[in-house]
Amino acid sequence: AQNKKALFIIFGGTGDLAYRKLYPALYKLYKKNYLNENFAVIGTARREWSDPYYQEVVYDSIQEIKKSDEDAKEFASHFRYQSHNVNDTENYISLLKLADELDEEYDLEGNRVFYLSVSPSFFGTVSSHLRAENLITENGFNRLIIEKPFGSDFVNSDVLNNDILESFSEEQIYRIDHYLGKEMIQMLLALRFGNPLFKKIWNKDFVSNIQVTLAEDMGVEERGAYYEQSGALRDMVQNHVLQIVSFLYMDEPKSNDSNAIRKVKVEALRDLKIINKDNINHNFVRGQYSSSKDNLDILDYVSEHEVDPDSTVETFVAGKIESTHENWKGVPLYIRTGKRMKAKKTQIDIVFKNDATTFFPAQEVKENVLSIHIGPDEGLSLQLNNKKIGHAFEIEPIHLTYQPSADAPEDYERLILSALTGDKTNFVHWDELAESWKYIDSIREAWTNADSPLYLYEANTNGPKEANELLENDNNYWIWN
Ligand code: NAD
Repeated sequence: AQNKKALFIIFGGTGDLAYRKLYPALYKLYKKNYLNENFAVIGTARREWSDPYYQEVVYDSIQEIKKSDEDAKEFASHFRYQSHNVNDTENYISLLKLADELDEEYDLEGNRVFYLSVSPSFFGTVSSHLRAENLITENGFNRLIIEKPFGSDFVNSDVLNNDILESFSEEQIYRIDHYLGKEMIQMLLALRFGNPLFKKIWNKDFVSNIQVTLAEDMGVEERGAYYEQSGALRDMVQNHVLQIVSFLYMDEPKSNDSNAIRKVKVEALRDLKIINKDNINHNFVRGQYSSSKDNLDILDYVSEHEVDPDSTVETFVAGKIESTHENWKGVPLYIRTGKRMKAKKTQIDIVFKNDATTFFPAQEVKENVLSIHIGPDEGLSLQLNNKKIGHAFEIEPIHLTYQPSADAPEDYERLILSALTGDKTNFVHWDELAESWKYIDSIREAWTNADSPLYLYEANTNGPKEANELLENDNNYWIWN
């Protein structure tokens, strides 16, 4: 591994994301020698913490993955803390001083990664202070990593984006969608463009339908207030689901270069058939979880902490997405995401057309299905038809399966490394964000204009029955159920 030099300044250094994801990811990069002596981290947040206390927190966060105590302590010694209010100019001046000292001490050559692990309402303020108080260096690279949610509709995400663009260029902005850091999402590129077997049949002539499921088994937990402003459509569909959709629908990129890949992804999003009040109720179903007959500890969504008892926020969305692209005419892409579903599961199923029936008139011949298991278990499975062993000629479905070795890099580890190397392939460009928000806005507007129903579903089920009917109306069915 090639050693990278950089100073990380993490805003929100006392937060949940930093503790659970960022520190462990940095530690893994450290163990793999992408980071060694030439890196330092400044954590900043409102609380008054000392350096030793902060280093203790960092040390704690890697207990389960540390190789040795000594090693974990050496890693934590690269961390400094500064309490900070994002609105206070003075704080940026002392931050600059500390940053320059660490740059000198660890020989960082002016390379800076600013990680905004704070509410998006601070993105504009923090980035303009970073510029105004000269934290952006002349000699090294300066990269800004930001988290979701990026806005709540097209108009305000555009405003937010323009705020950030006052201080950082699009080239310097790394918008995280952690699904893009997942091994099996990257696998999609290999699968689609590395195998003539799939490349030639990835179109309307051979594909019957595509299914994307992002199911969670948890409820809203402690995030009721956030979720009330968001709902499943904005929280999951706008980003993760549409990113996956763009990978599935996109044309083959001209090359394996981030600009070429982005171009076809944006085109794929632009080709989505727009939703309006006339087609919404045929194409989208929204639901909200209610309690469970089997588990009395589970509350209705409306009884959760910080949720309005009259809330009509959706905790489940299923939809039939269609593309206007020539390759995909008539091929539905069904999506489904929600809380309190049967299990935690992220899965893509490509269902191929079934035309093998003439040779086997008296038998049930199943479709070929390629399933991509993104999480929690990773792997591939391909359903084929086989002759059952024996004297009779009977057809039976079999599954070829593949599971990658357990040691795959985790999403945040991969994304932070990509940001260090300046590889933008797995980050969300503004053009993608703009297209996906326009599509999401069209759904929300149509829900309002068509006065669409909100269906209740029992907790621990895969949503309201209307989500199944969406497929049954086309003679299809959910592969994972
Ligand atoms: P958190 O509430 O645990 O932490 C927020 C941090 O912001 C704290 O360190 C807090 O001190 C700091 N902060 C708040 N107001 C401040 C101010 N005025 N000045 C300086 N610092 C201030 O939140 P989190 O879960 O760590 O999430 C951080 C960001 O990442 C959010 O944008 C969130 O939407 C996003 N995100 C989090 C997760 C996750 O798994 N936690 C997943 C995806 C996205």
